[in-house]
This record gives sequence, C-alpha cells and structure tokens, in this order.
Amino acid sequence: MNSADAGALKTLLSTPKKIAIVPHKNPDGDAIGASLALYHFLKMKGHGPAVISPNDYPEFLKWMPGTETVMIFDKQAEEASEILKTAEVVFTLDFNDLTRVGQMEETLQQLQAPFVMIDHHQSPADYARIRYSDPRISSTCEMVFHTIDALGSKDDITPQIADCLYAGILTDTGSFKYASTSSLTHRVAAFLIDKGARSSEIHRMIFDTNTPGRLHLLGCALNNMVILPEYSTAYITLSQEELDRHQFKKGDTEGFVNYGLTLAGIRLAVIFIENKDEGIIKISLRSEGDFSVNEFARAYFNGGGHTNAAGGRSTQSMEETVSYFRSLLPKHQKELNK
Ligand code: 5GP
Ligand code: MN
Repeated sequence: MNSADAGALKTLLSTPKKIAIVPHKNPDGDAIGASLALYHFLKMKGHGPAVISPNDYPEFLKWMPGTETVMIFDKQAEEASEILKTAEVVFTLDFNDLTRVGQMEETLQQLQAPFVMIDHHQSPADYARIRYSDPRISSTCEMVFHTIDALGSKDDITPQIADCLYAGILTDTGSFKYASTSSLTHRVAAFLIDKGARSSEIHRMIFDTNTPGRLHLLGCALNNMVILPEYSTAYITLSQEELDRHQFKKGDTEGFVNYGLTLAGIRLAVIFIENKDEGIIKISLRSEGDFSVNEFARAYFNGGGHTNAAGGRSTQSMEETVSYFRSLLPKHQKELNK
C-alpha cells in the first residue's frame, strides 16, 4: 500500500466507525480469510465492523474465528441491507468490480459511504475512494497484512487475525506453489506463524475434509477428463446428475480443475460444472505459463480472474458449451503450444 493510500485510510479510521466488509460471491479461503482478519483487526481498534457475504461458503472454511458473525445476504437480505445502508465505510475484498457480488450489487451501487478496495485481480474498476489493487500479490490476505503494516499495527496482530490471513494465503497460493508466491509471501506467512497462526492445523482443517461422496465425485471427474494434447489442454465436465449422485455440497469440486495441469505438457485445464438451479454452466480455468485464462474467460465466457486462474459462465447447455469451447482452441493453438 502506498503512503498516500495509507494516510487516507488512517484518516478514515481515525474515529470509531460502522464498517461493512464485503467479499465476492462464492467466497473462497482468501475472500473469507481477508474479511474475517479485517473484522478482528477493526474491532480491536474500536470500530463496529460486520462481514456481509453475498452467499454462503463451504464448510471447510467455517472453522475460522469469527465465522459465526458473518451475515449471508442471500439468506438475511433485510438485516444485511440495513447494515450496509448505515455503514460509514465499506471495504470490498478480493474482487475488482461490483458485478462480482451478484444480487448485492444494486444495494452496494446505492451506498454513499466511501469504499475501500483491497484486491489482487487485474483491471480494477473505479468505485473506491481508496483503491489498493496489485495483481502481483499472491492473495488479498497478503494485502490485508500489508494494509495493517502500513497502518503501523503489524505487531498488534492476534492469533485469530494470523489464522485467518494464513488460511487465505495458503489457499490462494495452492499451498505456496503457484507462481504468485514470492519470497515476501513466505516472509509474511512466517511472521503470521510467529503471531500464532496454526499452520499445520489450518492445512488439515482446509484440505483433510474429504467425504466419501467428494472422493467418488473426484473419481467421476477424473474419469470424465478429456485430454487434447494437440492443444496442450485437458478439460473435465460434471453434470448436475453426476453432482446429485455424489451428494454434492458447496466446495466439493474445489481443486478438481488443477488435476489437468499435473499432466506433462498440459498448459490449459478447464472444468465445466452444471448448475441447474442457476441455469448455468460454471467454468473454472487454470493455466501454466503466460497463456492468460483471465483474457480467455473475459473474451468468451463472461468472466475473468488472474492470468493463471479464472472463472466464467455459460447459459448454453453443457454440450453446446463444451463444443463452443473446443471451437475456440484452434485460434489459440500457437499460444497454447508455445
Ligand atoms: P474459481 O475458478 O476458483 O472459481 O476462480 C478462480 C479465479 O477467477 C478467482 O480469482 C475468482 O475470483 C475468479 N473468477 C471466478 N469466477 C469468475 C467470474 O465469473 N467472473 C470474474 N470476473 N472472475 C471470476
Ligand atoms: Mn484471492
């Protein structure tokens, strides 16, 4: 965070404020970790914060300290709207555009309170008074750490804050293995461990949470994988029927898309997941090297994200979506095989 933004934020937080903290829809470990870390930090500094998530999030994140205070806009729209309307500051975490909060967008658009964006996605929109945006940083949690540091408060980090921040860094870096993991990421993680983050236990609570249904669903996904060596591409489909057959719960497909990239020579991995309720195919894309799935998702699937991890959607059937996807590959064959 630059010193001008740090100064502006210090001024904004110089008196106790009612503060709303908003992660993106379908929040992941980074979004929820950043939100709850900021919640604990602001509370400790005498503010009145509240985390309002657009919708629910997976069970494997619900061990995080403060999770019981999170309001779900989908389920508590009236109460959550009231809090948003009376907030004096609104933090938006881990997203770059108000379209990323789903149903909550309209309410956010109408608020007069100043917004503070902390985010690491490319192409940030221009709605925030303070915009701390840096796509080079591993995670929003790492950025929340830098924010606390810029406010001169890193020594005040409690074990609860450390747990939440560590969890988000862990999940957004794929356990410290993605290219976005810098030496500074490791130094921040080390600092958090010194402050009480339970590194090994957090890893266990997030990743060792399989159910028989999820493992069988993974088997089904891997079985469905189509490998296209001529395009250095592998993709997976999961139909609603397949999800139902394996007692699908939110979060169960987390990480499935990454398996494609573990194949030698594969640079683009995609998963298509049918969601009958929403009438869409949700698409997750991952790449290795400089093939930008952010640009690909933006151009073809109404989505976005980062260079190597992005998401999007299609309102066509699974068959049409996959066939459209396959029709795009020849155009990108050169980049994919570079
Ligand atoms: P995932 O595939 O895990 O859902 O998301 C990977 C990355 O892409 C995350 O950084 C997420 O924020 C972003 N992302 C996922 N879905 C969408 C989408 O529909 N629109 C945009 N702009 N970004 C998305
Ligand atoms: Mn993130």
